[in-house]
Amino acid sequence: ELVRKPIIAGNWKMHKTIAEAVALVEDLSKLTQDVQNTEVVVCPTFTALYAVKEALKGSVIQLGAQDMFWEKQGAFTGEIAPAMLKDAGCRYVIIGHSERRQYFGETDATVNKKLKAALDNGLTPIVCVGEMLAEREAGSTETVVGTQVKNGLAGLTPEQAASLVIAYEPVWAIGTGKTASSDDANAVCAFIRRTLAAMFGQSVADSIRIQYGGSVKPDNVAELMAKSDIDGALVGGASLDAAGFSKIVKF
Ligand code: PEP
Repeated sequence: ELVRKPIIAGNWKMHKTIAEAVALVEDLSKLTQDVQNTEVVVCPTFTALYAVKEALKGSVIQLGAQDMFWEKQGAFTGEIAPAMLKDAGCRYVIIGHSERRQYFGETDATVNKKLKAALDNGLTPIVCVGEMLAEREAGSTETVVGTQVKNGLAGLTPEQAASLVIAYEPVWAIGTGKTASSDDANAVCAFIRRTLAAMFGQSVADSIRIQYGGSVKPDNVAELMAKSDIDGALVGGASLDAAGFSKIVKF
């Protein structure tokens, strides 16, 4: 029987000092001690990664970064290489978050380079896709998301694709307090899985975990997680509070 282990990840965005980050994961570790059948990931800012990794010793919580560059090393001022994230203790890396696409020039082409570099370095990408409000209203959600998946994941082997986590994050639902209805969210996640099946085969598509993201909160997570094609959540605002995030993790 097919089992996709649920994965709940917190995207802390540009929040928290090192001391605040360590305090948060210390609280969170205590509150999630008994969590067994769900993978839990936190994605702090770069400056807090190593300290958070140290604070997570003995915890089930895993570490992720929010972005990376695709080159190995060199004259790329301000950038962070995949091996540097591994060195800091990361297992996961978010790639193609809508804020990177909107404000920092991320495209499907750069997502594709980053994905390949992350996989080559043993990091598990959490690849973000999602439509803007105007695109949804124009009825082009599937065209937009399908293109992001096809171009973002172009050239991956089925084995590489199988290891990915995909986050469906409708841009209009991020940080707005508006959640996609669980049916609408599930419909797009199912569409993403069909797209993956066409690219990599049904069994690979069936093994890939697809998260929903966009104003996930303790009181809406259970309904979303109950859906057939939603295997997890990528949580922004509500991941900054240990009590709230632990409730989400224990959906
Ligand atoms: C996100 O940043 O990925 C996100 C889903 O944010 P929020 O939960 O705050 O909407």
